[in-house]
Amino acid sequence: MIWYPYEQLKTMKPPYKVVDAKGVYLYTEDKEMIDSVSSWWSTIYGYKNEKINEALIGQVKKFSHVMLGGLTHEPVERLSNQLKDFLPGDLDYPFFSDSGSVAVEVALKMALQYYMNKGEAGRTMILALTHAYHGDTFKTMEVGDDEDYHFVLEAYGKSKYVVNIPTEIQALEDAFEKYGDKLNSFIVEPLLQGAGGMRMYDISFLERARELCDEHNVLLIFDEVATGFGRTGNRFVADLVLPDIICLGKALTGGYLGHAATVANKKVFDAFYDDNPRHALMHGPTFMGNPIACTLASKCLEIFQEEDFMSKIKRIEEIEREEMEGFTHDKIEEVRIMGACVCIEVKDGKDIEGFQEFAYERGVFARPFVKYIYSMVPYVISEEELRKVMRTMKEWFENK
Ligand SMILES: *Cc1c(COP(=O)(O)O)cnc(C)c1O
Repeated sequence: MIWYPYEQLKTMKPPYKVVDAKGVYLYTEDKEMIDSVSSWWSTIYGYKNEKINEALIGQVKKFSHVMLGGLTHEPVERLSNQLKDFLPGDLDYPFFSDSGSVAVEVALKMALQYYMNKGEAGRTMILALTHAYHGDTFKTMEVGDDEDYHFVLEAYGKSKYVVNIPTEIQALEDAFEKYGDKLNSFIVEPLLQGAGGMRMYDISFLERARELCDEHNVLLIFDEVATGFGRTGNRFVADLVLPDIICLGKALTGGYLGHAATVANKKVFDAFYDDNPRHALMHGPTFMGNPIACTLASKCLEIFQEEDFMSKIKRIEEIEREEMEGFTHDKIEEVRIMGACVCIEVKDGKDIEGFQEFAYERGVFARPFVKYIYSMVPYVISEEELRKVMRTMKEWFENK
């Protein structure tokens, strides 16, 4: 028996079995459905994308994998050069890994060691947000704050190394006042907290965070594993407020293969770059910089720019607002829209039970959770398909 994610296997309903996928569509034996989740927010260029397929096959014919320990190759060099140009500021130093969780682990390790290398080993604490989600590995669970995912950590009790605050400027200022000289980093999912419930907040919070990080000499980490590549309506939130380290994953490889990057700025990089072997970053996932993954990511970056995906995202947001703005119902707490993300939060989680089957019947794949019905569609979706997704979400509340 297979372990499926986040499920009580004994009581879960059987998952839909996919036999084919193309564009925004997933196919089961008897149904075609629009993937309104983009396979956990990653398949932004659509399934079976011709250009991406071609790039992948081209690389497979050369070599599929070599380790990055003692070896290097053109795909990883090309991708790092592209990222250097594509990312804002001096976020020029990528460390590659195989998943978003590991990218965050690496960012947190960099932040801790940054201060050790500078002779400030006492900076062991991390500031993070309430409702934060940064992955499922142990340190990412520790900085995360979602009892719905990580109740296993209750065995340890509250960590003394992590403080979680709400996205309020007063709480931010208080935390820096109290812990400023013990913090190595402040980590956030900028503007949009995904797995913690599609919570959206204002850029002014991040602007103030940047100021406070500078004042107190604390590194600012943006976990853009979910928000990167246009999801918030910005290419990256880092275009608006510049972090010291950015984590990329999910859409980086267009949903084809797991790969991620932790990209540091020059200030961070320089604290590691000297003659002392103990100042080296001791990390090296087996599949880091995998040539197929790098080739995919390169092609994705090219498509994103050449096909002007930002304008597609703007169009998606316009349609979402037309369909969803002002939509209310007794059972709805709030409707939230940002970029290519729509979330309906209901007052009682029971009121979304059965929505997945309801959507499936109408040809939409959805994955509601806790109290949230949401969409994060592939950017290649047509207007008609997008309206269908929005209407399916609204129709659920008819006759309720
Ligand atoms: C999904 C996600 C991660 C974890 O990425 P994985 O590839 O699943 O390990 C980390 N941070 C954020 C914000 C995410 O949405």
